[in-house]
Order: sequence, then C-alpha cells, then structure tokens
Amino acid sequence: MSKILVIFGTRPEAIKLFPVIRALQAQPGLVVRTCVTAQHRGLLDQVLAIAGLSPDIDLDLMEPGQTLDRLTARLLVGLGEVMDAEQPDMVVVQGDTATAMTGALAAYYRKVPVAHVEAGLRSGDIHHPWPEEVNRRIVAPIAALHFAPTQTAADALLRENIAPSTIHVTGNTVIDALHWTNARVAADPALGAALDPVVADTAGKRIILVTTHRRENFGDAMAGIARAIARIAARDDVAVVFPVHPNPNVVAVMDRILGDQPDIARIAPLDYPSFVRALGLAEIVLTDSGGVQEEAPALGKPVLVMRETTERPEGVEAGTAKLVGTSEDRIVSEIFTLLDDKAAYSAMARAHNPFGDGHAAARIAQTIAQTMAQAVASAPAYR
Ligand code: UDP
Repeated sequence: MSKILVIFGTRPEAIKLFPVIRALQAQPGLVVRTCVTAQHRGLLDQVLAIAGLSPDIDLDLMEPGQTLDRLTARLLVGLGEVMDAEQPDMVVVQGDTATAMTGALAAYYRKVPVAHVEAGLRSGDIHHPWPEEVNRRIVAPIAALHFAPTQTAADALLRENIAPSTIHVTGNTVIDALHWTNARVAADPALGAALDPVVADTAGKRIILVTTHRRENFGDAMAGIARAIARIAARDDVAVVFPVHPNPNVVAVMDRILGDQPDIARIAPLDYPSFVRALGLAEIVLTDSGGVQEEAPALGKPVLVMRETTERPEGVEAGTAKLVGTSEDRIVSEIFTLLDDKAAYSAMARAHNPFGDGHAAARIAQTIAQTMAQAVASAPAYR
C-alpha cells in the first residue's frame, strides 16, 4: 500500500480537492490521509461539512491578522512535522496558496514526491495575483506530477522546462465539484437553503452575484468596487447578491460605502451548495475570484472579472468571461451593457466550459495510483 497525504487549508482548495480525495479513496493500493492547515478556518469547515470529509490531521493555524511571514513559517514547520510523523509516499497539494507552497517545500526537504493539482496557471505578473503567482511557481520545479487543468496551463509548464512526461491535462476539478454539488442541490431542497431568505427578498429582480477578496484589490480598488456595486444596485430592476468575504479589508470598506443601501443582499459567505444555487439564479456574475471564474461559464453565466490580468485566459478566449479591471466607471458600464443589450448578453451567456468535463478527479487518482504502483515495483530506488 502507498500512503498519499493530501494537504489543504482554504475554501477553494477544499472545493477543488474533495473530488480528488474521494477518487483517491476509491483506488485500491492507496491509503489516503488528509491534513488541513485551516488557513481559512470558517470557510474551510463549511466545505468539509458538505463534502462529508473529516480530516485526519488539523493544524488549525489560523490567527487573526497573521502576516504572510508568520503564516508561511508556521505552515512550513507544522507540515514538516506532519510529514515526519506520517511518512507519506506522496504529497498532494492544490493551486497556489501558502499551504500548497509550504506543503511542496516540506515534502521536497524530505525527498517525498509531490503531485500538484491545478498546475501551470500563470498570469505572468508576480504581483497579480499576489502572492499566489509566486506560490505556484515555487511548486512547479518541485512537483513530480503536474495536473494541468487545460492545455494552456500545460504549455506554460513546458515553457518552464518541466518534463513533458510529468504533465497530465485533466480538466479542472472545480467542475467535478460543481456537477456533484448541483446534482445534490437538485435532489435535496434542504441543501442550498441558506439562500432562501435572499430568494424571497430579491423576487422579480435581476440578480447580479458579486464576490471579491483578492489581496491586490485591497485599498483604493476595493473602494472603487464598492462604489460600483452601489450604483448598480440603485437600478430599479436589479438586486445585488453579495456574500462578503470575512477579511476585514473587504468588510470594513463595504460597511463604509454601502451602508444599508437597499437591494444589496450583503450576506455571510454561503456554504457551497447555496453558492452553487446563487450562481444558477444570477443573470451576471461580477468577481475577482479564480474558482468563480471557472464555475460561471460552466453554467452559462457571463462573468466580469475585476482584475487587470488573469491566469485563466480560457474563459476570456471562449467569450464567456471579460476582464473589466477595478475602475468604478468601467465596472458600471460593463454591467449596464450586459443588462441593456440583449445581443451583448447572449454573446457571453453560452454554457461553454473550457475548464473541464467533470472527470478530472478520476484521471488524477488513476495517474497517482499508476505512478505509485510503478514506484512500488521498482522500490527501493524510487525514494
Ligand atoms: N464560494 C462559496 N461561497 C461563497 C463564495 C464562494 O462556496 O460565498 C466558492 C465558489 O463557488 C468557488 C470558491 O468558493 O468554488 C472560490 O473561492 P475564493 O473566491 O475564496 O478563492 P479563489 O478561487 O479566488 O482562490
């Protein structure tokens, strides 16, 4: 048996890894252990509950106001100790968080091979998204297996001289999570119930779903986003549904600028099934989130991305996503165009999904199982 240690700490990692954990658990020959760092405590726990996951190890490393230095140092030491105790044969990390970066590094220090889920995303700008662009670049030379969601991501890895035989184009596991959750929400109305009061309040209005949390948008950009939301919600035909990320840099600005303006449902972060339901009800999605950029096109929802660059150009190329930056006037005018110009709307509202077919996790688990079987066959040279 080979022991696979799957490490994650934030909401998006949990959403994108729960399908992988399930698929790994279904593989004979693998023992799967899960370790959460709880880099985002509350948001992570919401996903664990829905996915029916109970982690084997919980480092619970979140502290309010923690600097990136302190978080990174604590993660590296904590994850190294977990690896020493667990002695995994392979470590799996996802994406571009501090947890993924330190998990890969701690494994490298112990010569344990790393599998990177959602490998090869690049914006080309180390400050956008910050610090994620550098986090994911650090994982690349370490990883033994690179699971690229798209060919574009695979090409980025090839440009960095990653060995082609280690790159596998799988689709993004967020589409697996979305399909799985959508099916459950359809079968069980109790799931997604957190949205019921919002549905009642916004009846008859056209819903704009908003999320924002990127660090590089904190400050002036966040204030511009808030003023744009206020102007959009002032239209009679529109209601804004806005699950507010708990980061104080987001909450304080929204409190100050949006006050108690009507037709803005500023609500607590939604559990994943309720958020998936909100995506289904929305006419337009306005976001700076990575995962939401991938989910909205899969549901045929135009998504306006409040960033200057994206590491997910596939949605822009497919015409379902548009980069609109963070200027107040630009956001308002792009939203109004989609609301008022049917042709512009239907050009974007195509249920086209460049990010995957919902079977990424099975491909990943199969490749890991094959790799470990080969490693066992050729042991002890592998490690
Ligand atoms: N999401 C959620 N509840 C919310 C807002 C977002 O479950 O209230 C989900 C969303 O569906 C997506 C993920 O969280 O899969 C994105 O997380 P986030 O925007 O925090 O991170 P990013 O994807 O930008 O790294």
